[in-house]
Amino acid sequence: MIIDGKQISQSLKDAMKIEVDALAEQYGRRPCLMVIIVGDNPASRSYVRGKIKATEYCGFDGHLVELPEDVSEATLLAEINKLNNDPLVDGILVQLPLPKHISEDKVIAAISAEKDVDGFHPENVARLWLNQHCILPCTPKGIIELLDQAGVEMAGKKAVVIGRSNIVGKPVAKLLLDRNATVTIAHSRTKDLAAVCREADILVAAVGRAKMVTAEFVKPGAAVIDVGINRTEDGRLVGDVDYEAVLPVAGAITPVPGGVGPMTITMLMRNTIECFLNRMNNK
Ligand code: NDP
Repeated sequence: MIIDGKQISQSLKDAMKIEVDALAEQYGRRPCLMVIIVGDNPASRSYVRGKIKATEYCGFDGHLVELPEDVSEATLLAEINKLNNDPLVDGILVQLPLPKHISEDKVIAAISAEKDVDGFHPENVARLWLNQHCILPCTPKGIIELLDQAGVEMAGKKAVVIGRSNIVGKPVAKLLLDRNATVTIAHSRTKDLAAVCREADILVAAVGRAKMVTAEFVKPGAAVIDVGINRTEDGRLVGDVDYEAVLPVAGAITPVPGGVGPMTITMLMRNTIECFLNRMNNK
């Protein structure tokens, strides 16, 4: 089974569009997401375009704040502070990566935790690991949603996550654990990675290396979630999984493009609605 993230994402956005119209009626305003981009990095520009398009589609308020590549850290922090204090702003996102002269840690920590739609703020990260109410990071949240929508049972299953970054690997592993999977986190020092992965009923690859997950990594019937985004020499977008080789072995698989990617943006929309509701109901 191919897990069609694009189609799942579309139906979730259609439902949110209706929900947002109802929220506007009920609360007198729409959820508002502000996206900040620094500089002209083409990949960042493309991601931000997708996020703004989804924001418009779902009927949110908000817009893009564009700052030049040489903007000072102080100016960026002041802009974030202004948005933190704006009662009509529900979500703030600063597109990463940032230019070298700006500390990403400082920027992430500067965004008010209640408006942190990316779920990267240390307070949200700590709350996730403490099992407290928090804003979940979008990609991990989207992966769990994809597994749910595809009817993949997680409880009691063995899951292997390749990758231990703070934004994907570790939080995905935590969310799988929360769904009562038994989770192994693999990384660049894991010995005999293929054998470790072959144990998995659910295999999540979040590495950033084209085609590193071959058929010998996959237990027949396993659900394979490909988070990787890589460019081939001829400019095509491919994941971490050798899709053609793994497709006949896997029970379910996400394609790249059209799998996890669209879900990340859709979960960003979901988080914006959740931030809006938390703020409106805590007034
Ligand atoms: P990082 O570079 O932060 O982490 C990569 C991880 O892969 C590290 O934990 C690293 O191990 C591990 N790794 C590297 N080489 C190997 C290897 N040979 N064998 C096993 N493990 C290895 O990347 P991110 O987590 O930020 O992103 C991972 C991928 O997911 C990227 O392609 C990124 O573009 C994509 N991505 C996609 C998103 C989406 O929406 N679809 C969102 C976010 C990311 P170690 O810790 O030991 O160095």
